[in-house]
Amino acid sequence: MSCLFCEIAKGNIPSTKVYEDELVYAFRDIAPQGPVHVLIIPRKHIESAQALTAADDALLCHMFACARQIAESEGVAKTGYRLITNVGDDAGQSVHHLHLHLIGGKTLKWDN
Ligand code: 5GP
Ligand code: ZN
Repeated sequence: MSCLFCEIAKGNIPSTKVYEDELVYAFRDIAPQGPVHVLIIPRKHIESAQALTAADDALLCHMFACARQIAESEGVAKTGYRLITNVGDDAGQSVHHLHLHLIGGKTLKWDN
């Protein structure tokens, strides 16, 4: 089954890269919800946070470490930012490949 974010991580679909390593790829959201809006994804296809297993503990920890580093490089580590992962239909998950949204650069409200 083809997956948009697997294809982006492989470089088969263009994206604006922010960070990459052997486990993680991070790129700018195509429809940013703030001055900074980066998507952090594992290279491994995982459907959502609900599909994580204990075998992914180190990967998830690494994704958060990447988020901290990206927050620094994007200049929002001190001003603050939101890390969001949508799970399933009621949350509005539209791409079924685990991703952290890192959003910042403005004061965020719950309803944006
Ligand atoms: P979700 O709604 O699943 O939590 O988040 C999916 C995110 O992926 C959305 O914020 C959407 O703007 C972004 N997105 C969807 N398609 C593309 C794409 O082709 N390229 C990039 N860079 N972002 C995308
Ligand atoms: Zn995928």
